Amino acid sequence: MIPEAARCVKCGLCLAGCPTYQLSSSETMSPRGRIALVQALAQGQLVVDGYSHEVLASCLLCRRCEAMCPSEVPFGMLMDRGRELVRSRQGWKEKLLIAILPRRVWMHLLARIGKAALSATTPMGKMLTQARLDAPEPEELCRPRGTRTVGRIGLFTGCTGSLFDSAAIEGATELLLQAGYEVQIPRRQACCGALDAHGGNGKRAARLLAVNEAAFASAGELEAVVSIASGCGAQFAGYPALGEKHVDIGSFLAQEQVISRLRFRPLAKCAMVHIPCTLENVLHGAEAVLQLLQRIPGLHIVEAGKRGACCGAGGTAFLLRPDLADSLRQPFVQQIGGLAPDYVLSSNVSCRLHLQAGVDTAGVQFMHPVTLLAQQLIRD
Ligand code: SF4
Ligand code: SF4
Repeated sequence: MIPEAARCVKCGLCLAGCPTYQLSSSETMSPRGRIALVQALAQGQLVVDGYSHEVLASCLLCRRCEAMCPSEVPFGMLMDRGRELVRSRQGWKEKLLIAILPRRVWMHLLARIGKAALSATTPMGKMLTQARLDAPEPEELCRPRGTRTVGRIGLFTGCTGSLFDSAAIEGATELLLQAGYEVQIPRRQACCGALDAHGGNGKRAARLLAVNEAAFASAGELEAVVSIASGCGAQFAGYPALGEKHVDIGSFLAQEQVISRLRFRPLAKCAMVHIPCTLENVLHGAEAVLQLLQRIPGLHIVEAGKRGACCGAGGTAFLLRPDLADSLRQPFVQQIGGLAPDYVLSSNVSCRLHLQAGVDTAGVQFMHPVTLLAQQLIRD
């Protein structure tokens, strides 16, 4: 028996927030149904088959249910456990993606080959068109120029950050430097482990956790370990040693003692802000990002969609379950089409790539909020 699953009192309060339940109206595809399934598999009351794999693998891990649950059932942990139980039923595509996506070298190779070979109409092809193959690796240690150093920050850049979001890494670094911090980006950091954990490979996720904890432990006295993508941040928040020090970049910068050192040039444009489910449901960092962006004078800010709802990117869902991912993206696409903002800002790289792939992007710039903040930053 899994004691955490037994905490579910089957009240059903989480059902209204679950995107797969809303689309299917099926109890099996609800958080309550999935918790009962994980428990039954763990107790040997049900055998693993293709259907039980599908029920667990189609969960988007948005953790909306966890945020709504009055009994504080740790749904994310239970789903990782469940995915381990049904791992033997993974198809070759799922296995391949989980093997390649978190490995920097393999992703660079795939981007080089796939950019030319894959049709830009497939989900993978669309993603690879966004890869920046010539992005330089960031410096390992950056020091603020001409200002007194107030502390040192460890920056987690993610396994594919330099490939798909180098502008956010550069932007986060610049903002931290301007606020007076040294920025340490340990070379030996690895993938956060989220894809492996959610793909049922808990052992590999634990190895990556150990690599990251060692990399940041050897980076000197750090005031905080800051992550840029909220999907990685949600995984980091559960690290035993680093979890306490971890904070999302938006929440770190929004602290009064930090933001008071930053000034921004006005920008008379419209920004639609997408709050990823991981930022809202796990890191609770939505307000901080909105407060930060309000520091740009003249910027008109509109929040995208329903806060905490999954846009359909859901880990690898946008690559493996394009129909589900498209359905969940539609409200966002319609809102972007109706408003025609100058910018769409999202704190999670896979959400940004997924939203961008669904919109006629002419005239709309998609980026991480820190990229826009760095663009408007007044430098000393
Ligand atoms: S997970 Fe929580 S909210 Fe959902 S049915 Fe169980 S106890 Fe209720
Ligand atoms: S994590 Fe999201 S998709 Fe999965 S059961 Fe919970 S609410 Fe539904």
